Amino acid sequence: MCWSSAAGRTEIVETRAVLVATPAYVSAELVADLDATAATALKTIAYAPVAVANLAYNRAQVAHPLEGFGVLAPSQAQRNFLGILWASSLFPSAAPKGKVLTITLMGGALRPELALRDEQAIIASAIADHEALLGARGTPELAHATRWERAIPQYTFDHEQRIAAVEKLERSHPGLYLLGSYRGGVGVPKCWLNAVATAESAASYLGQTQVRSEPVL
Ligand SMILES: Cc1cc2nc3c(=O)[nH]c(=O)nc-3n(C[C@H](O)[C@H](O)[C@H](O)COP(=O)(O)OP(=O)(O)OC[C@H]3O[C@@H](n4cnc5c(N)ncnc54)[C@H](O)[C@@H]3O)c2cc1C
Repeated sequence: MCWSSAAGRTEIVETRAVLVATPAYVSAELVADLDATAATALKTIAYAPVAVANLAYNRAQVAHPLEGFGVLAPSQAQRNFLGILWASSLFPSAAPKGKVLTITLMGGALRPELALRDEQAIIASAIADHEALLGARGTPELAHATRWERAIPQYTFDHEQRIAAVEKLERSHPGLYLLGSYRGGVGVPKCWLNAVATAESAASYLGQTQVRSEPVL
């Protein structure tokens, strides 16, 4: 049995299986009445913040050829960004002909303060890095920043114990499954594989054999 909330209505739905795919700190609230230990374990998984700046320039404003997927900054380089993805090189449809679009990621676990700056500071920082590294000149045609304050779950030393508490919760409530980037890998391919595996477990529990899944990246 679970709560369902849609179109402003909350109702109780009877079901034999529930897959909880929310971030750990949200899942913690959802399972709090079932298992306080698992809820605490989930709630205490730390998330690092990440800020994203999208910049668009006329192609002629950027000296660098932008051939490739982008640039990553190792921590010892002490740059103000984690990476700059050349979105329009990866996906030409991301920008009109004659324009380029980049995605700059900042912050993370080691330098969270960079992700928590105000949006103007995030954009100014991305522009400065484009000028210094990519030979960008002038004002970008488009500049947009987003802050994700709880972006990346951290697999700290005690993570295994936390996940063991989640596994115990699942064992004591057959048909309940918890998944998400805090468990089994953060990147999209891992999240995808784990989601398919979880769906297969749930299908098997329900006596079904087939789960439709598109090929993974
Ligand atoms: C800025 C950034 C860039 C990234 N870049 C890459 C990359 O280039 N390559 C890569 O492989 N990975 C990347 N990642 C990591 C990857 O995208 C994530 O780890 C992954 O998408 C997380 O998937 P998820 O299903 O766990 O969470 P999400 O996709 O966040 O899904 C959680 C869901 O829960 C819902 N939800 C939240 N709160 C509630 C609530 N209270 N009630 C109901 N629903 C709720 C949300 O709406 C959302 O649909 C990036 C992550 C970030 C933050």
